[in-house]
Amino acid sequence: MKIPFSPPYINQAVISEVTDSLESGWITTGPKVKKLEDLVCEHIGVPNTLCVNSATSGLMLALKWYDIGPGDEVIIPAYTYAATALAVIHVGATPVMVDVNSDFNISVSGIEKAITKKTKAIMPVDIAGWPCDYDEIQALVKSKKSLFIANSDKQHQLNRIITIADAAHAIGAKYKNQYVGKRTSDITVFSFHAVKNITTAEGGAVSLNLPEPFNNQDEYNFLRCFSLNGQTKDAFTKSKAGGWKYDIIYPGMKINMPDVLAAIGVAQLPDYFSHILEKRESIYTYYQDFFKNKGWALTPLYKNNDKQSSCHLYALRIKDATEEQRDAIIENISKDGVAVNVHFKPLPLLSLFKNMGYNMADYPMAYTNFKSEISLPIYPQLTEEELQYIVKTVEKAVESCLC
Ligand SMILES: *Cc1c(COP(=O)(O)O)cnc(C)c1O
Repeated sequence: MKIPFSPPYINQAVISEVTDSLESGWITTGPKVKKLEDLVCEHIGVPNTLCVNSATSGLMLALKWYDIGPGDEVIIPAYTYAATALAVIHVGATPVMVDVNSDFNISVSGIEKAITKKTKAIMPVDIAGWPCDYDEIQALVKSKKSLFIANSDKQHQLNRIITIADAAHAIGAKYKNQYVGKRTSDITVFSFHAVKNITTAEGGAVSLNLPEPFNNQDEYNFLRCFSLNGQTKDAFTKSKAGGWKYDIIYPGMKINMPDVLAAIGVAQLPDYFSHILEKRESIYTYYQDFFKNKGWALTPLYKNNDKQSSCHLYALRIKDATEEQRDAIIENISKDGVAVNVHFKPLPLLSLFKNMGYNMADYPMAYTNFKSEISLPIYPQLTEEELQYIVKTVEKAVESCLC
């Protein structure tokens, strides 16, 4: 049996919606993007959402919105995908890495120790779709207000460290009975990359949840303009008869999402919230039920009184396995046709960050999580027969490598 790791979920509804865009005569940013933004707002319960061409761009946009740049520090977990750190580097600021907990997410006490007068933002990452300790993080930025030095109008208005969540994995995850994005951080960025829970092939969404005195609609308008070269009219508006006049008012980026891609998300999003999310959870429970009785397995958290995962990744850990043993297990699993993955290689192990001076020894928990981690396939197309094959294959590989 051959089981891919994470094929996109493309059904007839997706194909029809994309065809509709192709046949409409308008393929770049226009009505489908607006529709997708409205769908995200309605489902998550946020006032405004801007779609962009990737979560990475969305994170950069959020950092730029808060005038973060050279000399500023941004706190991120050492255990994440590189894009979290790269977004910070792209705006010229310094990523300050913090170790994680055994649940894979950023440690709040680690954040507390890392905050300095230069800290402008914290970027929590909901690894695998498991929400971070958002209330504790919000309480922390409030308690550290006196350290904050505002250097721009927006920084004066908020007057504290901003929280920008990298929720690339977490659309549909819940924190204290509300979806991640609603009141969890000031700005939440979702990813619609091809392997994520909802996809537009490439894409991201920036959901705003800014407190008073900000007007989220005004900030959305600003961000929309900024994401389109700082141009006063988008191409759709300009294309209307008599609409040719425009101005450039900001040094914007070109990171808008095209309609033909938004169409995929427009078709997927309602299905995701109505039943695909549940299907992902049922796969999670299938895995949990199988692995919880295996002495060698450390199963991931996905549900407690406060949190409910979006079940983006099934991050199994093999108790006490070394990196070499884990790699051997993966090789065995792969021989049997099951594609698995590792999420993630901690940033200090990657050449770029190593050369910048980040040291893996400073993040022991990130390394511990990584060295024994194996991500199993999880997507709605998986059948019972395939799930059975996956767990048996994993069991066989672990038992042959660990003895
Ligand atoms: C996928 C991912 C991103 C980047 O998303 P893109 O839409 O590909 O830019 C950022 N952070 C994490 C944790 C991710 O997994």
